[in-house]
Amino acid sequence: MKYEELKQKVKDFPDRPGIYFFKNLQGEIIYIGKARSLHNRVKSYFLPQPDLKVQNILSETDDIDYLLVNSEKEASFIENNYIQFYQPKFNLRLKDDKSFPFLKLAVNDDFPGLSLTRRVEDDGAKYFGPFSPADDARKMMSFLTRAFQIRTCENSVFKSRRRPCLEYDLKMCSAPCVGLINREAYWQEVDRALLLLEGKKTELEHQLRLKMDQASQELKFEEAAHWRDTLKSLERFRETQRVISTRKDNMDIVGYAWQGKKGALFIFHMRAGRIRSSSGRLLNIPGKDEQQQRRALNEGLLAFYDSQELPDKILLPFQLKKEEAEALCYDLKNRSTPVKLLYPDNKKKKVLLELAEQNASLLLEKEEEASPTAELARVLGLDKPVERIEGIDISNTGGDESVGSLVVFDHGQANKAEYRRYLIKTVSGPDDFASIREVLSRRLKRLIAENKPLPDLIFIDGGKGQLGVALRVMAELNLNLIPVCSLAKKEEIIFSSAHPEGLRLDPTSGALKLLQQVRDEAHRFAVGFHRQRRAKKSFSSELDGIPGLGPAGKKKLRLAFEAVEDLKKASEEELSRVVGSKLAKTIKQFLSEHHQ
Ligand code: SF4
Repeated sequence: MKYEELKQKVKDFPDRPGIYFFKNLQGEIIYIGKARSLHNRVKSYFLPQPDLKVQNILSETDDIDYLLVNSEKEASFIENNYIQFYQPKFNLRLKDDKSFPFLKLAVNDDFPGLSLTRRVEDDGAKYFGPFSPADDARKMMSFLTRAFQIRTCENSVFKSRRRPCLEYDLKMCSAPCVGLINREAYWQEVDRALLLLEGKKTELEHQLRLKMDQASQELKFEEAAHWRDTLKSLERFRETQRVISTRKDNMDIVGYAWQGKKGALFIFHMRAGRIRSSSGRLLNIPGKDEQQQRRALNEGLLAFYDSQELPDKILLPFQLKKEEAEALCYDLKNRSTPVKLLYPDNKKKKVLLELAEQNASLLLEKEEEASPTAELARVLGLDKPVERIEGIDISNTGGDESVGSLVVFDHGQANKAEYRRYLIKTVSGPDDFASIREVLSRRLKRLIAENKPLPDLIFIDGGKGQLGVALRVMAELNLNLIPVCSLAKKEEIIFSSAHPEGLRLDPTSGALKLLQQVRDEAHRFAVGFHRQRRAKKSFSSELDGIPGLGPAGKKKLRLAFEAVEDLKKASEEELSRVVGSKLAKTIKQFLSEHHQ
């Protein structure tokens, strides 16, 4: 992609938090960044006089993509994860494993201690985080020790103390090392700390209020003041940690979105508890009901995992029926290791799915924006994608057997069940303009009379003149709001109200290709009908003058024999099976006398 194209592309990036990726010609990620507003941040790379680093990045960039997240904080976590995974050449700062810190609460000990760590281990302790900025972890630790007096010493120190350390004097530890608090009372405080770490802040506030009131009633004013101050400090901890699992999960999180007959899968790959990468896939959905959605999701997943590493677990957006889940698991099991299907039964899973679903919707939107129907709408200056196009063409031979065709394209696809053919009734001679007028008027009047939806665009095969005729018909029927366009053959120039002097699109344009497809289909359908009419006429005229053979008999013969030549070769017996023995004899005799 050229510099100007990239610049144009990033103008459409959303004004939302996210991660952006610069990719080179080979599709490799060369730089990853995070932004509170993707729109503003990525656009800033294209300001005049960029610094050397930006110049270097842009000189190797062929495409820029992005992911949406819920907040800037999440963006930091995911950015870090992705950088560790992809190791982009221009992300020197985070390439070394300077990961964000976690808080570790050793709930597997009798008197759990609290510590800061950058490594999550499978050791029975609980881990929370990562915290970004790292200072947030220290603030949280400081709050927890002051509020709940949880110890922070090493186990070796804890076991060897004969008297409390300075932490006790500072009221930051209840000194379980020397038995100044029993196990039960210490655990009550640990449980309160866990409430905050697990994001159950409201429940903790409730408990602290009870403690404060109780202390106050018992005239323990110092203690009541402690809980009051704790409650006040608690207000600082607004945003909960969302994206990262503190368990070492290997899980894929499947987001799903659909619109009409298009669907999208967006999958976050969480490995060892961190979101490492993501994948997106577009799907075709046969219909709108839930069962069809589920089937499309199932098939999409099977196709996806056909070529992908299987995780231990897959978090799905909706509950599959028992037999569907069994079928999916069975199929996945057959490919590699057993896979456990999970559903959003708690807040954390819901949050992860929400994020994946947002990105699936985005994938769909991007696809929609790049579709020929959306491009066509942009080209014609329309404010919504062109979902239904009706195309008209006329066919005749020197004005003889003049017919019209009407083809319908829904969402860019031919809908043959909706095609219509017209015998031109009001026009004599080769007058394409008048024939277009007749077909278009008849079509629109019929749609209105039957209260059927009107098209989003009417397409006429032809140039300025044909467009003019169609626009006059629309005005007469008071339907000026329906856009009309035409496409001139050879030059491939589009004419419409927005482009009265014509518009020439790039030959690779999806919008142009779609119009060419509509034109070719309308032409094919009109010519086919015209040929049929001519064949019928010539068949009929060859049989003119046969005594006793009327229109009904001619029709029977036409249906039985494809061409007059076949009829001439048929035996009297074969003819009699179609029109009876008496008429068969007459026909045979007539043909032998008149067609020697
Ligand atoms: S007072 Fe005892 S338990 Fe508390 S931090 Fe110091 S040594 Fe550890």
